Amino acid sequence: MTRPISRVALVAHDNRKTDLIDWVARHREALSGCQLVTTGTTGRLVADRTGLVVERLQSGPLGGDQQVGARISEGQVDLLIFFWDPLEPMSHDPDIKALLRIATLWNIPIACNESSADFIVNSPCFSGYERRVPDFGAYQSRSVGGESTPD
Ligand code: PGA
Repeated sequence: MTRPISRVALVAHDNRKTDLIDWVARHREALSGCQLVTTGTTGRLVADRTGLVVERLQSGPLGGDQQVGARISEGQVDLLIFFWDPLEPMSHDPDIKALLRIATLWNIPIACNESSADFIVNSPCFSGYERRVPDFGAYQSRSVGGESTPD
């Protein structure tokens, strides 16, 4: 069964926030039908500049990236727009890697720059897509030390 992309996570590092806000403003109509979840500062700026309603989590360096990752692992995110900064090291680099890892693991579409984000929002898949949710059953019930592990 296909379903529209309706739960979108937005995250941008400081040097990329203007690009993300401009992108959101350009696609305001498409995004106005979505539930938006954001890291703290990104969400404040998106809401102020576009008027869109967002659910703001903690600021990224304070744990917000990990919260977004948790939402993904709980099946609550359909799309990750993550404009990370390729020119600056960050205090929370491990969290950034973890967020990209968990989105990749759960087969979530990810856009890390404007053109990728444009491709996704303009795709027919944006209005109807059946994302294959990976089945980790074999991993969860794998044998460890001769015993199978309960969930
Ligand atoms: P911020 O966090 O939206 O609170 O700035 C983003 C990040 O640095 O991951």
